[in-house]
Amino acid sequence: MEDIVSFAKRRGFVYPGSDIYGGEAGLYDFGPYGVELLNNIKTSWWRANVRSKENYVGIDSAMFKHPKVWEASGHVGGFSDPLAECKQCNTRIRVDKELGKIGIQADEKMSEDELNNLFDANRDKIACPSCKAKDFSSVKAFNLLVQSNLGDFTGDNERPVYLPGEACQGIYLNFKNIVDTTRMKVPFGVAQIGKAFRNEISPRNFLFRTREFEQADTQYFVKPNENKEAYEAIKQDRWNWYLSLGIDEQKLRWKQHDNLVFYASDAWDIEYEFPTYGFDEIEGLHDRTDYDLSQHTKFSGTDLHYTDPYTHDKYIPWVLETSMGLGRVFLAVLSDAYTVETMDNGEERTVLRLSTELAPVRYAVFPLLKNKPELVEKAREVFAELSKKYPCEFDDNGNIGKRYRRQDEIGTPQCVVVDFDTLEDGTLSVRDRDTTEQSRVMIEDLL
Ligand code: ATP
Repeated sequence: MEDIVSFAKRRGFVYPGSDIYGGEAGLYDFGPYGVELLNNIKTSWWRANVRSKENYVGIDSAMFKHPKVWEASGHVGGFSDPLAECKQCNTRIRVDKELGKIGIQADEKMSEDELNNLFDANRDKIACPSCKAKDFSSVKAFNLLVQSNLGDFTGDNERPVYLPGEACQGIYLNFKNIVDTTRMKVPFGVAQIGKAFRNEISPRNFLFRTREFEQADTQYFVKPNENKEAYEAIKQDRWNWYLSLGIDEQKLRWKQHDNLVFYASDAWDIEYEFPTYGFDEIEGLHDRTDYDLSQHTKFSGTDLHYTDPYTHDKYIPWVLETSMGLGRVFLAVLSDAYTVETMDNGEERTVLRLSTELAPVRYAVFPLLKNKPELVEKAREVFAELSKKYPCEFDDNGNIGKRYRRQDEIGTPQCVVVDFDTLEDGTLSVRDRDTTEQSRVMIEDLL
């Protein structure tokens, strides 16, 4: 993973946030190739979850919301991590995660007192990850919501607003709007990609646990008790999407939650086997009953019952949720594609074996020689044509072997070379990233 982190910076995929100020914990910026890869993942997800489905629509809701939204969702009261601090070196640990490592499951419903009792009974088994001391403070519940002051002109913080702790709330808030203004009828789904912010106590593992991240969520509204079959279908569908990205199936697995929150009827995670870190969650799939729309009915005073247009049954729909962290999936895709290999001539090369759909650059266009104006001019023409349809890069810098290596590293599937034959017969040399083989193709055929 260390190699991948340094590669990601060196090749302009991911930079540490506020880098010139020495960085800021849990924040990262996507660079020129990173933003292309990220956008391609989003496009693929949107196509699979909105465009290709008859009964799904997308939205993009405002990040700031009425403060009561986060009370209704349970985030103001209960969105917290249990934290203890090492008295020797001040390192903070997530008590539930440390207990988990020694095989003890802390229940999400436990009060602070109950957690302290459990922690006290096991203190001798938990050492500080930094200094190895076993000398911790008591456990405190630490709220993860990030507070802001939008519209607070008095400065007395009477009406705190929050940055979203999860992206999905905007979907529940617009359930009624969508029913009233579109032809969607239960069962139907709503998709959204949005930013989420969490005051993570120990951001770590590169893009895996950050304080600002993006989630791609779907909420599927079904008739009460008609959840099981739909949930299984959604699980299969999400699994297949990861395979469609070209991710190695051996590196994916399902994990069912042992401890469900009180309203949930089932919950599964899709995990990916990251280098160094091992298997961990990239997406959660939650069978959430009528909790979300009931809570918002109660807190907003707006009735979110749905009336079936055919049977006239009236009910609060149940919700099946999929919630994927884009940073984690980006890291899974990058890890899966990152390959260092020895070629036939004994040279080593780094290749990013990204699918054509995800590659930041589809075609790199080179003139064979930089100092032959007729080649450069023709290559620019080819670039202009290809770039109307595909993300392309023009490169005339350095010898051709070096240019191929640069494109292999960023995962460009094909390099197109304009040489002297091109001027004669209009064919281009097309070199394949994975096989390194070259073939001759007419420019019209490429387009
Ligand atoms: P974890 O147990 O790892 O904290 P979670 O179960 O709280 O995750 P959810 O609230 O279900 O996560 O969020 C859905 C998805 O959002 C996760 O599967 C993950 O991909 C992503 N996610 C959650 N927290 C973070 C984070 N701090 N940084 C990056 N991605 C995150």
